[in-house]
Amino acid sequence: MDDRTISDFLAAVPMPMVLVGPEARIQMLNAPARAVLGDCAGVHYLTVIRQPEPVAALERVLAGTEGGAVRWRVTGPGRDTIYRGTVARVAGLGVTLTFEDISELEQAADMRRDFVANVSHELRTPLTALLGFIETLRGAAKDDPGARDRFLGIMEREALRMNRLVADLLSLSRVEAEERVRPTTRVDLAGLAASVLATLRGVAEAGGVVLTLESEPGLPFVPGDADQITQVLHNLVENAIKYGASGGRVEVHLRRIAQHPQLRGPGVSVAVVDHGEGIDALHLPRLTERFYRVDSHRSREKGGTGLGLAIVKHIVNRHRGRLKADSEKGKGSRFEIVLPVQ
Ligand code: ADP
Repeated sequence: MDDRTISDFLAAVPMPMVLVGPEARIQMLNAPARAVLGDCAGVHYLTVIRQPEPVAALERVLAGTEGGAVRWRVTGPGRDTIYRGTVARVAGLGVTLTFEDISELEQAADMRRDFVANVSHELRTPLTALLGFIETLRGAAKDDPGARDRFLGIMEREALRMNRLVADLLSLSRVEAEERVRPTTRVDLAGLAASVLATLRGVAEAGGVVLTLESEPGLPFVPGDADQITQVLHNLVENAIKYGASGGRVEVHLRRIAQHPQLRGPGVSVAVVDHGEGIDALHLPRLTERFYRVDSHRSREKGGTGLGLAIVKHIVNRHRGRLKADSEKGKGSRFEIVLPVQ
């Protein structure tokens, strides 16, 4: 095979491919391989491939052993990259190393594992409490009506916590499944905000919080799923009441944005502002991760599942909108969503 044919052949392979020829020199590589290794044709492969795993595999195959799969990690400044490769002998030509970046796949697998571990942990805590109280009610507290009532109260609280967790998990998976489908109906954000505030007024009053709604007149309707937007507003206002109660008031502001730079067009903004203790800046970027809580004890005590803002983020993404959280420790927090009008 002449060089031209080999080069055409390499160019047809979509993933990075390197051909190591006589004297262990890199004879040829395709464009994807050049993007990773640089233009290294002609040099000894050890000059550009340094990780022990691919080096050992190339050495073995160059020495005449059968080819095979190999996996290695390249430590980078920001993050590591994980590669999966195959080394193969091509009679008369040399040895090929083909590889692909599997970091994202591995990361997705890690996230799935973490998620399952988190869900199991979150369910196990109330379940353990329930089992413990059932046992106590059968034994020590059998004939003690006072204890029975108290324990039943705790059992109810734990069962409700599990119920909320399962409901949030279901709604998260529904939202994720629909994330690529844009809503087709149009919704009146001011109307939805008013009804969410009406639902939460009782909870707010019980926590000593005054709720106010301030809306610019004549706001345009936006493409949206009314149930999902209601859930977003509910989660944000409920959080502001739960965590910002010390500020005494929670305000919801709606306004029109003539030209939003990221949405590249007009939008409607809904901001939920509280004057409570606020959130330390270091937590802000992680708030929308599943089960991320600033203070897990406090969140659990308030009946939180740690999924509220993850649900908000997915719904806002589905609507091609933006979510922004600002906060100053000691002064309060501001969560804003902006939904496109078009
Ligand atoms: P949770 O069910 O724990 O409330 P969320 O996903 O809704 O879960 O929120 C994640 C975390 O973000 C909360 O545990 C809380 O620590 C923090 N948080 C959310 N909203 C506010 C707020 N308005 N003020 C202070 N902290 C907040």
